[in-house]
Amino acid sequence: MSSSNTMSERASDVEARIAAACARSGRDTNQVNVIAVTKYVSIATAEEAFRAGYRHLGENRWQDAQAKWQAISGGDGTNGGEQPVWHFIGSLQTNKVKDVIGKFTYIHSLDRQSLAKEIDKQASRLGIVVPCFIQVNISGEDSKHGLGPEQVSAFLQELSSFTSLRPVGLMTMAPYEAEPEETRPVFRALRELRDKLNEELKLQQPLTELSMGMSNDFEVAIEEGATWIRLGTILVGKEG
Ligand SMILES: *Cc1c(COP(=O)(O)O)cnc(C)c1O
Repeated sequence: MSSSNTMSERASDVEARIAAACARSGRDTNQVNVIAVTKYVSIATAEEAFRAGYRHLGENRWQDAQAKWQAISGGDGTNGGEQPVWHFIGSLQTNKVKDVIGKFTYIHSLDRQSLAKEIDKQASRLGIVVPCFIQVNISGEDSKHGLGPEQVSAFLQELSSFTSLRPVGLMTMAPYEAEPEETRPVFRALRELRDKLNEELKLQQPLTELSMGMSNDFEVAIEEGATWIRLGTILVGKEG
């Protein structure tokens, strides 16, 4: 993905493709939020994405994210103005939760009770409520994290006892396909699962969000109802 292009060239290309996917599926572009995934780039490039207007930044490992978070959001408050909203999109070890909560607003990888318990504990210490996506392994690939689709209903019921964690939706990763169209069944299944859970469980706060779609397949994900797409390579670029 030609990192020779500038950020603003990449951004206008991506925005045009988002708009076209929305038009094809009768959706409004403001229903689709972009998370600029900065995991492959330097602090300077992450800042550039933020200045280009991407308010939501995503990272998948605390060890790598730490310096970036510190540089961009960790100052003494004199940075002034608007701050990015950070999304933790990678699998999260329970012993890293205390580092991440309070810095990352959203967690996209909630996939087990022990993790929920720790998120709830750390969030309640800070007096905040953390919006979480439940990660679902729709494709069934061994390499993918997440609950099996049939496990999500019981998991959601277990979460109802936590007061500092709020499930807002579902997240999945599709397998990489040379032909992105082939990812459609995965994204469609995540949307159908969300709708079925909302109907079945009659949650007080229904699951509204779908975090799905990456550089290779975001257009298909949008057509299937994504409300958050996570774009690294194609938007922010890849360095080193
Ligand atoms: C790296 C990553 C992305 C972005 O990947 P690209 O294909 O570069 O857009 C999205 N989601 C998750 C969970 C990731 O780890």
